[in-house]
Amino acid sequence: MTDDHRSGITTAHVTKEYPGIGRPAVDDVSLDIADGEFMTFLGPSGSGKTTMLSMIAGFTPLTAGSITVDGQEISGLKPHRRDLGVVFQQYALFPHMTVARNVAFGLARRGRPRAEIERRVADALEMVGLAALGDRFPRQLSGGQQQRVALARAVVYEPRALLMDEPLGALDKKLRDQLQREIARMHRQLGMTFLFVTHDQQEALTLSDRITVFNDGRVEQVGTPEDLYERPRTLFVAQFVGESNALRLNPGEVTIVRPERVTLHSGTGAPAGHQRASAVVTDVVYVGDHSRVWLRYGDGTRGCAVLPAGAVHEHRPGADVVVAWHPEHQAVVPDSEPDVAERVAS
Ligand code: ADP
Ligand code: MG
Repeated sequence: MTDDHRSGITTAHVTKEYPGIGRPAVDDVSLDIADGEFMTFLGPSGSGKTTMLSMIAGFTPLTAGSITVDGQEISGLKPHRRDLGVVFQQYALFPHMTVARNVAFGLARRGRPRAEIERRVADALEMVGLAALGDRFPRQLSGGQQQRVALARAVVYEPRALLMDEPLGALDKKLRDQLQREIARMHRQLGMTFLFVTHDQQEALTLSDRITVFNDGRVEQVGTPEDLYERPRTLFVAQFVGESNALRLNPGEVTIVRPERVTLHSGTGAPAGHQRASAVVTDVVYVGDHSRVWLRYGDGTRGCAVLPAGAVHEHRPGADVVVAWHPEHQAVVPDSEPDVAERVAS
């Protein structure tokens, strides 16, 4: 382990097997999460994200492997000894306590002096925009406000890291967007390691310094949002993160090109030095500043092109087009799991 990672979270060969279940829920996961990093676990339902987070938090024992925080082995410690803040999708506030007492609870249990508790609770409520609501009870708050209380409660004692499992999953889109921005701001303000779980690739791309993509309990790829989008290493990542054109140009390999990277041409108009493939336009969707052209390739694969507004008038549904792109904008991945597109879509 390098000095750079001394204050982060490191997992080595972490595995979880549940009795009577064929394959492990989490399978040999080794990760290095840097101190202060915003790391997201992204993957479809059942891919092992919650199990992984829960092992780090201390609610689920490991079958094999080790977890260290600040270089300290923690896999034998009880959850409250790990010094990690945790927020779940369900807010789990104490209904009979005011907002302020909910937030103060952990500090009070740690025996902190009263003046310090009051100051820290006020700061935490201020940070989540609830300074005026400390005397309310949870039932008097909206879902979004209750989740803010849960966030304040998790960070008030300045844990080493904040762990969040789909914290915005129960909120409607507008509130989710708003709380996403607040979580990003909290991360900048606190400089603390954030570990965030979501199945929503857009949320992951928006928030994260790096993303770990899970599939069937295994790590598919770890990288920045740009790495995953521009340089996917597997077909699963290419199809789970963003839209893509997945073209089988060579046996055993799939060429991935993102919708912004292709141009459409009728007949022989494609630029020299570009790769090309034939397709039929199936739909054109005008989105204001750009348009989205849906495509079907010769082998039946669906694809998509994003074109500047005004550039699509000649491409109508049913038109034959040549799809072209520069080779430097493609990624080539092994042709694994032919059923992956259906699984991602379902
Ligand atoms: P995710 O959070 O990505 O949806 P989970 O970590 O909840 O995935 O689940 C991963 C796999 O482990 C799933 O196949 C799930 O059915 C299984 N699993 C989770 N918790 C348990 C449990 N307590 N007992 C048995 N199997 C479980
Ligand atoms: Mg989960």
